[in-house]
Amino acid sequence: MAMQREAGVQDFVLLDQVNMEKFMDNLRKRFQVGSIYTYIGEVCVSMNPYRQMNIYGPETIRKYKGRELFENAPHVFAIADAAYRVLKQRHQDTCILISGESGAGKTEASKIIMKYIAAVTNTQGQNEIERVKNVLIQSNAILETFGNAKTNRNDNSSRFGKYMDIEFDYKADPVGGIITNYLLEKSRVVQQQPGERNFHSFYQLLRGANDNELRQYDLHKETSKYHYLNQGSMDILTEKSDYKGTCNAFKTLGFQADEVQTIWRTIASVLHLGNVEFQTIEDELVISNKTHLQSAAKLLQVTESELSAALTKRTIAAGGNVMKKDHDATQAEYGKDALAKAIYDRLFTWIISRINRAILFRGSKTQARFNSVIGVLDIYGFEIFDSNSFEQFCINYCNEKLQQLFIELVLKQEQEEYQREGIEWTNIDYFNNKIICDLVEQPHKGIIAIMDEACLSVGNVTDDTLLGAMDKNLSKHPHYTSRQLKPTDKELKHREDFRITHYAGDVIYNINGFIEKNKDTLYQDFKRLLHNSKDANLSEMWPEGAQDIKKTTKRPLTAGTLFQRSMADLVTTLLKKEPFYVRCIKPNDIKSSTVFDEERVQHQVRYLGLLENVRVRRAGFVHRQRYDKFLLRYKMISQYTWPNFRAGSDRDGVRVLIEEKGFAQDVKYGHTKIFIRSPRTLFELERQRNE
Ligand code: ATP
Ligand code: MG
Repeated sequence: MAMQREAGVQDFVLLDQVNMEKFMDNLRKRFQVGSIYTYIGEVCVSMNPYRQMNIYGPETIRKYKGRELFENAPHVFAIADAAYRVLKQRHQDTCILISGESGAGKTEASKIIMKYIAAVTNTQGQNEIERVKNVLIQSNAILETFGNAKTNRNDNSSRFGKYMDIEFDYKADPVGGIITNYLLEKSRVVQQQPGERNFHSFYQLLRGANDNELRQYDLHKETSKYHYLNQGSMDILTEKSDYKGTCNAFKTLGFQADEVQTIWRTIASVLHLGNVEFQTIEDELVISNKTHLQSAAKLLQVTESELSAALTKRTIAAGGNVMKKDHDATQAEYGKDALAKAIYDRLFTWIISRINRAILFRGSKTQARFNSVIGVLDIYGFEIFDSNSFEQFCINYCNEKLQQLFIELVLKQEQEEYQREGIEWTNIDYFNNKIICDLVEQPHKGIIAIMDEACLSVGNVTDDTLLGAMDKNLSKHPHYTSRQLKPTDKELKHREDFRITHYAGDVIYNINGFIEKNKDTLYQDFKRLLHNSKDANLSEMWPEGAQDIKKTTKRPLTAGTLFQRSMADLVTTLLKKEPFYVRCIKPNDIKSSTVFDEERVQHQVRYLGLLENVRVRRAGFVHRQRYDKFLLRYKMISQYTWPNFRAGSDRDGVRVLIEEKGFAQDVKYGHTKIFIRSPRTLFELERQRNE
């Protein structure tokens, strides 16, 4: 491989001054010569190149395998290797947290990391490990088919959060894994913005399946014929070949034929449901597009009359009596869309449970359990749209939680290392976003609690009442305001607007739809209907449909509370692991490999807190290294240590070298490592070494 041309500094801590201008200069210079990775200490900043880079092949992998970060040009491989080495040498769980906004390259980075780990493990070529590696990598194809969609920001945007644990045995070979998914953007199933599409799966089926298959599903190739597909973009991507890829991935993961059947049939049924229409004739609600009703019923393996009844009426139990109540057309439309969304959401979760079954650690007599794990988190970045709703609220809350974790861990880790090494250290101040996390999640007082109270109270509670309750409870909170509280604020244009000052910037949310989305109601009739499907796989996705209607059922948890709990679990999981970070940035909004959009990049640098990150790193020590390794790297620059230092320990050797070079003021000696404060010293050492 040709040596890559490097420009600027490889680590932002080496900048001669830390300010936005210098930071941006360095980022731009490096982007222009194709050096897409730059470090801040052990954090890897990754710039989306928007073109194929020749830096992921076997040659490069060999170069990074088992090497320290500073030994090679910055690369996400080095981060993967560092995480892997910690696991291998210290048997410590690690995780790699990948963040950045939509289109910044998170999912690509996560795949590159997985490929690297697959490439450097199983050197003995054991079959079972090879199988696990294949399954781990192929699972991505399935996840992307059902969980990704074309948006205005990214042709292959992940519309769910993903956390994957890769499990390793005592020899540090991968033996299993488990995927956890977070909040799929299911509203996309029934509605898409101009220029956007539904999930890839629908197009793959229509454009990739052969005529025979399509006939089975009563489907037509034309996407424009389907209401759930014809609202947004009609673009054709690569779904013909992707469909084959998905089918192959199902095979590799050991999905049974009947399971694959269920999956595609369910996808088809959603398209038919979308074309079901309601009409009111002489006060009676009727379904006017019967062929689609019939097809949907056939594919879901329920009877036509059952499906029709569930779409037009609802069962209510009052005082021990069970009655049917007719829907009006609005309720029926709402119910139908809710059904389509729920079917897709359950299907997605079920598919992931099937993937997990395939990658589950099987163990053996000698290995009772896996030894340690590397977790890889690829989750939605901070979102500010023109109009922000409940989904953005959840996503941005998730980012607050992760930022909180970043603050805790990065600072904690640094400080713990100083303590461990016996180095003096005074704490650095940071903006701590805990106050914003509290605003959202505090019991009884936070937004989620206020929302739940509104959703659970009886009577007609509207979004407006909810906003009133929030105003009342939160009027003094420094990170919350609303139109009602601050009528003179020009940014708050609508009566329904409220603003949260997130760590990453102000976001104005519109309260309309919050109650509905938080309640996430699905009529019980649908649950019973699908539970009673003759398709055993489908039935399995709807366990609660077995409940007796007359029994008073507990209200299901709200979407907000469920999300909050899943975030709390995630944080607990991550806190147990040693974290590594990949911070992704996109250079522009037009997917160009050459344009460096100053404003857009600067915005991302700011909200990812990268400058703060550099400052903290520099206020401490920019570099630390074990004495033996340090000596090995720099002994040639001093007459006292070259070719070998024999007058004492490695530590003594390092001290002699440092004093000779006049750096004594700039370093501290820990128990096992030398700590260097200023980047200049490191820079100078490297310069002399290169001479
Ligand atoms: P989202 O939050 O919408 O899921 P994301 O951060 O996961 O976005 P990706 O899907 O990983 O973004 O990247 C978007 C596109 O950018 C990719 O489809 C690819 O075309 C390009 N890209 C990203 N990273 C790389 C890379 N390392 N090399 C080449 N192209 C890349
Ligand atoms: Mg993604």
